[in-house]
Amino acid sequence: MPERIDADVCVVGAGYAGLTSARRLSQNGKSVVVLEARDRVGGRIWTQHLSDGSPVDRGGAWLGPKHDAIFALAHEVGVSTYKTWVKGAHLLVEGDRTRRYTGLIPKISPLAIATLALAQAKIDRLSKQVPLDAPWTAKRAAEWDARSVAWWLERSGIRTTIARDLFEMAVRGLFTGDLNDTSFLHLLFLVRGHGSINTLFSIKGGSQENMVDGGAGSIAQRVAGDLGDAVRLNAPVRSITQHDDHVVVEAGDVVVSARHAVVSVPPALAGDIEFDPVLPADRVALYRAAIAGPESKTLVVYDEPFWRADGFSGQTSQPGSAAEVTLDASPASGSPGVIASFTFGPVATRFDALDPTERRRAVLAALTARLGPRAASPTEFVETAWWSEEWTRGCSMAHFPPGILTRYGPLLREPFGRVHWAGTETSTTSHGSIDGAVRSGERTAAEILDRT
Ligand SMILES: Cc1cc2nc3c(=O)[nH]c(=O)nc-3n(C[C@H](O)[C@H](O)[C@H](O)COP(=O)(O)OP(=O)(O)OC[C@H]3O[C@@H](n4cnc5c(N)ncnc54)[C@H](O)[C@@H]3O)c2cc1C
Repeated sequence: MPERIDADVCVVGAGYAGLTSARRLSQNGKSVVVLEARDRVGGRIWTQHLSDGSPVDRGGAWLGPKHDAIFALAHEVGVSTYKTWVKGAHLLVEGDRTRRYTGLIPKISPLAIATLALAQAKIDRLSKQVPLDAPWTAKRAAEWDARSVAWWLERSGIRTTIARDLFEMAVRGLFTGDLNDTSFLHLLFLVRGHGSINTLFSIKGGSQENMVDGGAGSIAQRVAGDLGDAVRLNAPVRSITQHDDHVVVEAGDVVVSARHAVVSVPPALAGDIEFDPVLPADRVALYRAAIAGPESKTLVVYDEPFWRADGFSGQTSQPGSAAEVTLDASPASGSPGVIASFTFGPVATRFDALDPTERRRAVLAALTARLGPRAASPTEFVETAWWSEEWTRGCSMAHFPPGILTRYGPLLREPFGRVHWAGTETSTTSHGSIDGAVRSGERTAAEILDRT
């Protein structure tokens, strides 16, 4: 017989959205149960401890200076942050040529830089015409949602191949999918939710400025610790049945009867839950379309961050390579040295098709060419293929193909009876990020508190 639990609210998913929702509801006197499919909390945030105990983040890791909600949560539970290492020269590789630079802009031709700046300014300008709470109501929403990001990039006027490749890779890194499948309206909405496209790309003053001491997962651990027995792991929710005054949420060995439910799983996974009454067709269409793309995040660990002493920041890029972007992701103590290496979208798919030995060889060859021979001998090599993670299936957030936001976007946050929707994909400010997930949790908690 399954265990039966009564609660005011049942939260599905213990990522940052679900945990925050549960925390705020519990702080306001509601009894909660959080059902999590995995054997750990944190969802797309996954801190692993290396053999020497040092924390590394296999998933989300960086926080921007305006990510107030996650900073507030970290502060509440006593977790601190530190600045990402940026001192030294960054490297941009194009074929046989490696350019060293500091600051945001690589040393490519003045014409390329000017056209890049123009394209970015145009995206920023258009994004300001997108209402944050309802991008589908923008005056030009239909036109922008009919176009893909790839379509716009082809017409962006950016000169020189390396500048175009660099910009394409950076935008592909935001969505991790194929930019032919990503609505231009979604890009404008994302930029609007973060203030500017440079904010999304940048370390200093941007989305990659801060890391979490102890790993990004340490905040989730503390929040879950405070919730205690209310968090049930290994409890994949299979069905949600709504009645006049309550919902019944089934997760194998546990059945929760609650006044309301908060579903905080990635949109593509929401469609796998059996709803009674069934989800309306438009909502099903939204979730089927909201796919997340492939991305590989590989953590390459060394005894020390040797590149710092050699005058390198660890920030390197080579569009299309086995290490398209790298960043210094060493712990606050500076030991061990950790390089986080990424590939995105179709490049990640190609990279994943290699066998693990070839992948390792390709990443280490790229790092050695950029940072010198010491890069060839890491002490640990941690890969995560997020698109094959059963309870995530894609990185780092769902992207909406053309035509979806204008047709189904209003459903993203609209409750379905007693079911409320959290998750970074439902957020406006900081859309797609950890901060967005936290904000969505706070919004759903407020929605339920308003109704009761
Ligand atoms: C590789 C990678 C790098 C990233 N880098 C950054 C970064 O540096 N900075 C940043 O701000 N953001 C980053 N992100 C994005 C960020 O991690 C996400 O926006 C955020 O963690 C999403 O939180 P969430 O709670 O909305 O969803 P999730 O974290 O996906 O939480 C959903 C939870 O629901 C659970 N679940 C799913 N189905 C069920 C079910 N049927 N029953 C019960 N539980 C279920 C899942 O196991 C999961 O725990 C990155 C993501 C990835 C993958």
